[in-house]
Amino acid sequence: MEHQPHARASGTKRSAPRDSETEHRDAIDTRNATTPTILLVDDEQAYRNAVKRVLADDQHRFLEAASGEEALALLESNTVSLVLLDLVMPCMDGFAFLEIFRNNGNWRPIPVCVMTAWSDGAKRRRAIELGADDFIGKPVDNIELETRIKSLLRMSRYQSELRDMNAQLEAKVRERTQHLQASLDELKQAWEESTRDALTGVFNRRFMWEWLLPQLKHAKRHKVPLSCLMIDIDRFKDLNDAYGHHVGDEVLKHFSDIIAKNLRESDIVVRYGGEEFVTLLPNCNLENGRLAAERIRQAVTKMQLSSLKGTPLTCSIGVAVYDPAEPTTGEELLKQADKALYKAKNAGRNRVV
Ligand SMILES: [Mg+2]
Repeated sequence: MEHQPHARASGTKRSAPRDSETEHRDAIDTRNATTPTILLVDDEQAYRNAVKRVLADDQHRFLEAASGEEALALLESNTVSLVLLDLVMPCMDGFAFLEIFRNNGNWRPIPVCVMTAWSDGAKRRRAIELGADDFIGKPVDNIELETRIKSLLRMSRYQSELRDMNAQLEAKVRERTQHLQASLDELKQAWEESTRDALTGVFNRRFMWEWLLPQLKHAKRHKVPLSCLMIDIDRFKDLNDAYGHHVGDEVLKHFSDIIAKNLRESDIVVRYGGEEFVTLLPNCNLENGRLAAERIRQAVTKMQLSSLKGTPLTCSIGVAVYDPAEPTTGEELLKQADKALYKAKNAGRNRVV
């Protein structure tokens, strides 16, 4: 019998003639890659030969085992499409083989056809329960054998195609998920950047307005106050002139850190202008707003920065409150805080008004 794969019969175009040995090797390689492998497990050589005779063509490859142990060893090192299994064998019989075979997840998709002379229903049932898929009676009827094997191999092929498709789908889903996650991270970062001041990392004005409007609505509906602190570093221009902008930037960073450290988690810090910061404190009345402002003012006087070479640093703070009994706009709240800040500056700086 010629080992010519179907693909070769349809004629593959070649650019150069090749020697017959190469062609033969290629033919075998193609056959091995696509030809289903049937594992024949039977202690009687005569039966194995009979089966091989019936199925002998170039569409199957055979592995032979005379016992369950031999079969398991062959399964370890070969890809098998179908197992034809005798039940009565010395040492490890068909039942014992099935128990081990079906407990191995890698082998679960491989169909098993039991060959038995038994017509005993209980034994057949037991084999099915242990994971056999079909039966062929002994002695083997050629046509029955051929048709059963064809149908089981088709089932095996469909299953493996399904597994491949599943694996491809899973890979695609994984890939898409990774892309989505990357896009999401980028979006998050872009959003973070668009809401933050680049130098100090506190929020910017744009974020402040987005945040403030719903907060004021909430304050009005739930009748709770909201405090606004307008904080300005005293004589910041002099510091910049004396030590340069890089020291000015350093002061701004430390300054915003100190403000943040003296607030609650629900409060926000905003860089409002050059050296001007706004903090908004939800559910905080004027009295507590002033206490928070005083805490910040004192902490700033204790700020140590070697590049300032002992020059004292102070700030002035204006405090305003949103009173739900007399609701006002966000702009008005900021204006009132700014007025208070102006008063603090005029009264000699380093104070809270
Ligand atoms: Mg036997």
